[in-house]
Amino acid sequence: ATTTRASAQPLENADELIASVETFIFDCDGVIWKGDKLIDGVPETLDMLRSKGKRLVFVTNNSTKSRKQYGKKFETLGLNVSEDEIFASSFAAAAYLKSINFPKDKKVYVIGEDGILKELELAGFQFLGGPEDGGKKIELKPGFLMEHDDDVGAVVVGFDRYFNYYKVQYGTLCIRENPGCLFIATNRDAVTHLTDAQEWAGGGSMVGAICGSTQREPLVVGKPSTFMMDYLADKFGILKSQICMVGDRLDTDILFGQNGGCKTLLVLSGVTTLSMLQSPSNSIQPDFYTNKISDFLAPKAA
Ligand code: PLP
Ligand code: CA
Repeated sequence: ATTTRASAQPLENADELIASVETFIFDCDGVIWKGDKLIDGVPETLDMLRSKGKRLVFVTNNSTKSRKQYGKKFETLGLNVSEDEIFASSFAAAAYLKSINFPKDKKVYVIGEDGILKELELAGFQFLGGPEDGGKKIELKPGFLMEHDDDVGAVVVGFDRYFNYYKVQYGTLCIRENPGCLFIATNRDAVTHLTDAQEWAGGGSMVGAICGSTQREPLVVGKPSTFMMDYLADKFGILKSQICMVGDRLDTDILFGQNGGCKTLLVLSGVTTLSMLQSPSNSIQPDFYTNKISDFLAPKAA
């Protein structure tokens, strides 16, 4: 359904926004940090929100780490955030499989990095693939037939710097030949900012390869899909109208908030510029925008 939303407003009264919700969901890269660098004023802002009794939740589409590994990253950056406040798309993949009672005697084939393997292991699922298949080569000689495990009941695809043709073929065989095999994507981000020098091909590129070979569409568990929002609302018993989603990307974060019926705030500390927001070709309008989350501390000076 296409709804026309009013253009985003500059955030002029942060106190009013803060008072109007009970939970803030923060995207990570571009909001809390940029790569490995903390964004200015974040610790003080999170402390202030906690002192006002707000629930803080952190959601990232980056599936390369588990929530435990993100816990360490928050700690290293000097932020007081516990593991169970962190919801990465790696965790979402395992949580989704749990939510559908994916059988423990079936296996998951992983095209992705360590974070997904760690979360599947913690959830008690059997899996194969992951970075170790990155070294595998297919020797194409006459009559060669690639075997695959009939017990694979789901293929999970995320960002993968060890991506190769072996994995494409293996995942494709499972999806095409194992009856009922699920195709799950952690996220479909077109690009990511692995370095600040350029845009790098994102998780959407690995997912796209499997779409191409299977002619199937994945079930996405990361932003902007509603899975994680429903999961959070259910887990914490929160009304979505009492949530403000804060992010730096229109097509993942802001859409995620809007799909959930939440309030939305775009910060310009990440990948979206004011001219991108205001471009006639952009149809995704958050409720508010501001430079960075520490604008919450000095609302009148924003
Ligand atoms: N996926 C990868 C591989 C990334 O490197 C990033 C950001 O660095 C993202 C996704 C987006 O993460 P977030 O949802 O925290 O902005
Ligand atoms: Ca982001």
